[in-house]
Amino acid sequence: MPPDSPTESAWASLIRDVPDFPSPGIVFKDIAPLLADADAFAAMLAALAGPWRGAGIDAVAGIESRGFILGAALARELDAGFVPLRKPGKLPGAVLEEAYALEYGNDRLQLQAEAMPPGARVLLVDDVLATGGTLAAGARLLQRQGAQVVGAAVLIELAVLQGRMRWPCAAPLRSLRVV
Ligand code: AMP
Repeated sequence: MPPDSPTESAWASLIRDVPDFPSPGIVFKDIAPLLADADAFAAMLAALAGPWRGAGIDAVAGIESRGFILGAALARELDAGFVPLRKPGKLPGAVLEEAYALEYGNDRLQLQAEAMPPGARVLLVDDVLATGGTLAAGARLLQRQGAQVVGAAVLIELAVLQGRMRWPCAAPLRSLRVV
């Protein structure tokens, strides 16, 4: 990292805790201030990409919606393509679908059936690992589509929720910040 780049604590300090959003009892991790700071965004992205450089990633799969922001940027860092995992009704053509439970509600994720060639080496990305249901659903979708899940990268892991326990793959799940 160049000497004038922000340290990890500099970019991490731009992640804002918002109590009781979007519902009472949830402390929302707002990454908007981090994304809005060019140097902090670059430093965070370099750290997120670091362990995966040279891993032969064909595509980064990002989970709607903040996983799109991180995932597309990470895909360019890794010279990989980008594949969106979306909420229902957004993707045209044949799709695969997985339902899952959230920290605040239930949801479903979809992947285009022909998004990647079989055996593609895919890195799954999201902003926050909370209860782990979203990331697990994403991994299951990729596996059903015939992709090889090389691992998962998340920016923030909420350790108390033990979402890591639900990660269904042998491949590594790496978090940049565990809080
Ligand atoms: P989960 O399936 O419980 O691991 O939830 C992870 C998904 O919900 C991610 O896509 C996050 O964007 C979002 N999420 C869950 N909890 C939070 C939180 N405390 N702050 C921000 N996003 C969250």
